[in-house]
Amino acid sequence: MKEAILAYWAKHPDFAEEARAEGVDVDGGHLPVKGIMFDMDGVLFDSMPYHAISWSRVCNEYGLAMTEEEVFLNEGRTGFSTINWLTMRQWGRETTEEEVEHIYQLKCKAFNSFPPAPKMHGTEELLTQVKASGKIIMVVTGSGQASLLTRLTSNYPGFFKEELIVSSRDVVHGKPNPEPYLMGLKKMNLRPWEALVVENAPLGVRAGVAAEVFTIAANTGPLKDEVLLNEGANLLFPSMDAFADQWQKLLFNF
Ligand code: CA
Repeated sequence: MKEAILAYWAKHPDFAEEARAEGVDVDGGHLPVKGIMFDMDGVLFDSMPYHAISWSRVCNEYGLAMTEEEVFLNEGRTGFSTINWLTMRQWGRETTEEEVEHIYQLKCKAFNSFPPAPKMHGTEELLTQVKASGKIIMVVTGSGQASLLTRLTSNYPGFFKEELIVSSRDVVHGKPNPEPYLMGLKKMNLRPWEALVVENAPLGVRAGVAAEVFTIAANTGPLKDEVLLNEGANLLFPSMDAFADQWQKLLFNF
């Protein structure tokens, strides 16, 4: 853990200097974390398997090949970006707005035919400890559903507040652009080195790293760890359970 934090400071010498000037024990491997930004799908909810089946099935039926693994690899892209990637690859042309709307509607219908996604195993244990340690809890998601807050507060009562959520409605550019995480920092009134990002997807990790925030990958899906580490994740846990188990230890450095 200490090594990962030292590597983060080494990559951001300007932050290190700023923190040192404020008395932070930078060289002792301390990261003064005040807030944590959680991604939603694949971190708070175990919804990715349903997304993967829905995307893959609907696109294949439309004539666009897409494996379930590719859904995990592209998690976080907008519907437009995902479908455009598929039409370019298979048909060598850009998609159209009508096509995107059509496929996206079918995908949503397929996804909604599944029962509501369960909570990710281990996440509530982690949130309970994070809250007890006095850190701010923030949600940063590419989702824009109107029922977002209700869904969060009914599944995880007592952890989330409306003013501490960044959804697709708050930003122009979604992940992998850093904008959602920069918006999260702004809402918490924190600097990048005072926060953590928790992500399960390669593009989400890329967004967190681009926002210059210490980014923890929780590999809750079928992808290889390297896929997440290659995007620059500062630390990786094989599950949210493993993350929750390590929290008290991590706190020594935060
Ligand atoms: Ca995710």
